[in-house]
Amino acid sequence: MISASKAFIGNNVVLEGTMQKACILVEDGKIVDILTGNASDDLNKDDYCVVVDAGNDVIMPGVVDSHVHVNEPGRTMWEGYWTVTEAAAVGGTTTIVDMPLNCIPSTTSCSAFATKLDYAESKCFVDVGFWGGIVPNNQDQLRPMLKAGVLGFKCFLIHSGVDDFPAVDRTDLEAAMTILQGTDAVILFHAEMDCSCNIGQSTGEPQTYNTFLESRPEVMEMRAIELVCELCLKYRVKCHIVHLSSASALPLIIEAKQMGAPLTVETCHHYLSLVAENVPEGATQYKCCPPIRSQHNQELLWEGILAGHIDMVVSDHSPCTPDLKDLPTGDFTTAWGGIASVQFGLSLFWTSCQQRDLTIHDVVRLLCSNTAQLAGLGHRKGAIKIGYDADFVIWDPQSSYEVSRRMIRHKNKLTPYEGRQLQGVVKTTVVGGVLVYDKEITARIPRGKMLLRNTENV
Ligand SMILES: [Zn+2]
Repeated sequence: MISASKAFIGNNVVLEGTMQKACILVEDGKIVDILTGNASDDLNKDDYCVVVDAGNDVIMPGVVDSHVHVNEPGRTMWEGYWTVTEAAAVGGTTTIVDMPLNCIPSTTSCSAFATKLDYAESKCFVDVGFWGGIVPNNQDQLRPMLKAGVLGFKCFLIHSGVDDFPAVDRTDLEAAMTILQGTDAVILFHAEMDCSCNIGQSTGEPQTYNTFLESRPEVMEMRAIELVCELCLKYRVKCHIVHLSSASALPLIIEAKQMGAPLTVETCHHYLSLVAENVPEGATQYKCCPPIRSQHNQELLWEGILAGHIDMVVSDHSPCTPDLKDLPTGDFTTAWGGIASVQFGLSLFWTSCQQRDLTIHDVVRLLCSNTAQLAGLGHRKGAIKIGYDADFVIWDPQSSYEVSRRMIRHKNKLTPYEGRQLQGVVKTTVVGGVLVYDKEITARIPRGKMLLRNTENV
């Protein structure tokens, strides 16, 4: 018999392509064996010091959210490691990957990355990986940052919102891609680009959502994605488009993929759950860039998901302090853009799945395995397999709940989802074999691991 100290059993365990009765044996944070069928019935529970029986609840790989802005250090009042990872754990997310901007300093050098790690260590309830940043003139830092353990790099093709993370142009990108050729590092693109029909041109009422929406037209995403596709095909460096909001850019992505570009694309829960037509006057908690678009556009994004053209779905959790949302004036043109939602990703997505032809296996693919793959963690996260990390979410897909301010664990509670009825209740979250959340946060000490890149191929 394989030696294991923990056993997780349930009638609905999501294994590759199946959901069945199974027993997962865990030792030292890893899955060491999976017993199915009769073998799981024969389990002698006395052999294990911890047995978690999920009954009819689903045991699924923990969600891997590859797009989270933590803001610590420097803007910890916006969001910090302790609160964001607590919120992640409560929502069934067992790994987050932290974006390189909105913290101070931005993660654009080895020393800034070392600072990030100093602040994150010993404050995280779930595992945390880190994206580095590409900005003008930091090309000499890229390979050293990869060696130090960042999982890849994010860049902006338009003003990022913070001055210490400037946008890159074609020349900067060609230099960066030349340096990264031959590695398997991925470049993440905030794919909006200034063009003639530009920001600030709209003259409508600033409290009306449409005024903001018209200032960020779909063509800005199209122009940026054209450049990404062109450079991806030219340099064959892995490229990834973050938070696709405009479905009209999908044909460009599909064509580039068909031509062999190593290209992936994500969209976010807010583009799939919220629509421009329903944003109330002055409700700046709905503001993000690129913007939430029309109902019609949302349907096309769902078609892209169903057809397999959109590879993954993430939160883009990006909170700020309430004053920056300008709620008293409700001015969409001046409010900080960003939506806080790391705690609700699984339920938001599952709620939408109820009206569409998606299964729990699609949820695992889009929220767990493909995001793990993007972050270079596909060999240890995103699936329940022997040798993988014992990261699980145990949840009831049949139950629902209403989002209340009281239940929100991330630091700033303002979210467009308050009052929403969501399907799918997380009961227990397990990180590295340890119960971190079990109807309440049960881990006394945050033991989440810092996920550093495997540096063999730098
Ligand atoms: Zn973001």
